[in-house]
Amino acid sequence: MPDGLLEQLIEMTREIGEPARDYVIQGEGNTSARIDGDTFWIKASGADPVSADARSFLRVRLGDALEIIGGPSMTEQEVRARLTAAKVDPSAPGSPSIETATHALCLSLGGATFVGHTHPTPVNAILCARDAQAAFAGSAYGHEALVCGKPLFVPYAPVGQPLARLVHEGLQTYQDRHGQPPRVILLQNHGLVALGRTPDEVLYSTALMVKTARILLGTRAWGGPHFVE
Ligand SMILES: [Zn+2]
Repeated sequence: MPDGLLEQLIEMTREIGEPARDYVIQGEGNTSARIDGDTFWIKASGADPVSADARSFLRVRLGDALEIIGGPSMTEQEVRARLTAAKVDPSAPGSPSIETATHALCLSLGGATFVGHTHPTPVNAILCARDAQAAFAGSAYGHEALVCGKPLFVPYAPVGQPLARLVHEGLQTYQDRHGQPPRVILLQNHGLVALGRTPDEVLYSTALMVKTARILLGTRAWGGPHFVE
């Protein structure tokens, strides 16, 4: 296991959970980090990010989490049972987040080492709107496009298997079109996923997309966004 990986993940998660940032409340949001070729850390379902510690994370087998995506259709209960069975230490308390398969995709196909998934209010003010996709179709601010590239927009699907399937499809299409994985994923009616090689990349992309969302919301008072790219 890379030195200090869990400590870095804990620190990143606490930053994400900081109430003043308004990225998540209570047990919302989840984070993960790739340990090696076969396993990763994922936040346990319901654990509060702001008070994250070593007990907030479960080590899960990557292959088992990815298997959920391609397998037969499963209810949320069945997905939860499969994820619980994917724990490396079956005696570890708690069950992995329902969004574990989406994290597994970001840590494999998405090439990330750290992933932060949040529900920031300004981002969701747009993602929950009718014109969400059009709002993020171009870049008006420019800086976020430079740092985060073009975001991957994933249409609404319930969490668990349906969402993971759409994220899988989206990541493949994005890779084919752009020759590299996205740095940020926008989940319609849901939230943001930031993919990074380091915790700092995840935190910076998240902050930048929140700032971009605030700018986009502000442009509504002045005729809407003027896209520069
Ligand atoms: Zn979520």
